[in-house]
Amino acid sequence: MSTKEQEKSSASSSDMQTEVLVLGAGPGGYTAAFRASDLGKKVMLVERYDSLGGVCLNVGCIPSKALLHTAQIINEAEHMKANGVDFGKPKIDLVGVNGFKNKVVTKLTGGLKALAKQRKVEVVTGYGNFVDANTLAVEHNGETKNIHFENCIIAAGSQATQIPSFPNDDERLMDSTGALNLTDVPKKLLIVGGGIIGLEMATVYDALGSEVSVVEFMDSLIPGCDKDLVRPLSKRILKKYKAIYLKTKVSEIKAQRNGLKVSFEGDKAPEPQVFDKVLVAVGRRPNGFKIGADNAGIKVDEAGFIPVDNQMRTNVANIFAIGDIVGNPMLAHKATHEGKVAAEVIIGMKSCFEPMTIPSVAYTDPEVAWMGLSETDAKAQGIEYEKGAFPWAASGRSLGLDRDEGLTKILFDKETKRILGAGIVGPNAGELIAEAVLALEMGADAEDIGLTIHAHPTLSETFNFAAEMAEGTITDLYIPKKK
Ligand code: NAD
Repeated sequence: MSTKEQEKSSASSSDMQTEVLVLGAGPGGYTAAFRASDLGKKVMLVERYDSLGGVCLNVGCIPSKALLHTAQIINEAEHMKANGVDFGKPKIDLVGVNGFKNKVVTKLTGGLKALAKQRKVEVVTGYGNFVDANTLAVEHNGETKNIHFENCIIAAGSQATQIPSFPNDDERLMDSTGALNLTDVPKKLLIVGGGIIGLEMATVYDALGSEVSVVEFMDSLIPGCDKDLVRPLSKRILKKYKAIYLKTKVSEIKAQRNGLKVSFEGDKAPEPQVFDKVLVAVGRRPNGFKIGADNAGIKVDEAGFIPVDNQMRTNVANIFAIGDIVGNPMLAHKATHEGKVAAEVIIGMKSCFEPMTIPSVAYTDPEVAWMGLSETDAKAQGIEYEKGAFPWAASGRSLGLDRDEGLTKILFDKETKRILGAGIVGPNAGELIAEAVLALEMGADAEDIGLTIHAHPTLSETFNFAAEMAEGTITDLYIPKKK
């Protein structure tokens, strides 16, 4: 008997029944489950771990932000020495640092449990595999239960990409989960991958006292982002970190008693070096091949993504998929919106997922945030645009923070003057980008933004000023008239 037949024939009175089954309790999954329940459906939420919240809440966005806050305080306290306040060298107690991070995580994941209970969403702990297009087998501590569902929303996420030739079972070689665990502060830390995870963790470990090196095989850090937005970050961290190797690849990592010996490849590759720890942050892979999708006839592409239409429906009519498992960008805020769409479509609403943009934020120091059309893509696609760029060196609020490296830029359509895209680099850029997203969704043009009164003195004014730069109405800077 095949496993599929065995699981079917073992159907018993312990089998469960639900209208909507959600597989995976990350931000996409719990949002979908809660929305479906609020819309009147009986919902079961299957999660392999005891704690709800997925990677984002447990070992991703949230704990990293708690550590980045700690890093920011350390950096700002040190910086104040030049401005008349010396706090002295910080005494770092990792138990306390981890304790704060864990407290934040526990509060949020506990809150989710309460929210599920209030909505009568039944949480089932265990690992889910499809048996067929209406049944999921959930295995927990050696026991398997079948859940029969009318509709399913797959929100099974992604996992960190490993490089097979590296010594992946050596504790000194970390992925983001290991790095967030903060068991120690390595003296010499190498970060493989100059993307968002790599640079956020670099910010944390640098503040805690590690000597950080970063290796990135493209010619710029955060390769998907415009170079002028990444430049202020690169400039700042080049001064703080031991080294940043661009256009360089790690060819080999050998586990030695005294550390991990790393060899590099590339035109400017350094000599092999020994590091106390190495963090590999070279992207994430979707979990499409890990849920028995074949048994339900669900199509999975070669990379492991599950293709969906704009209503989040897979090729199987009663099965939906959302979040990292359906495609890039792998961002929690994409997943939550997709989750709502899937739940609404199941109850017959005419919802669809058609955002004009999904903002990206690197919570580094300075933060880098962007949305809509990038300048790089505008040039590559021959799209004609007008640009308004305002340097934060002319922002009173920015100078009050003793930071002048920031930049806010907005791209406008040459004809209609409507906003096409925007990018911000500087402290709090991640908060500021929201206004640009709203402007794009509402079809705002340069005049709308320029005439919108922003409180003074705020960093948000730089968005106003960038529009005025495009309009030629700026008075906070002098722009010589074109002759
Ligand atoms: P990423 O794709 O953002 O960055 C990976 C980087 O590694 C890229 O710059 C790539 O060029 C480089 N790289 C790949 N292979 C390499 C190699 N062998 N040697 C050197 N460099 C190499 O991936 P990530 O930083 O691992 O993040 C994974 C996902 O999680 C992304 O989708 C990201 O958007 C998401 N995430 C988002 C946030 C956030 O929104 N703040 C935070 C963390 C993670």
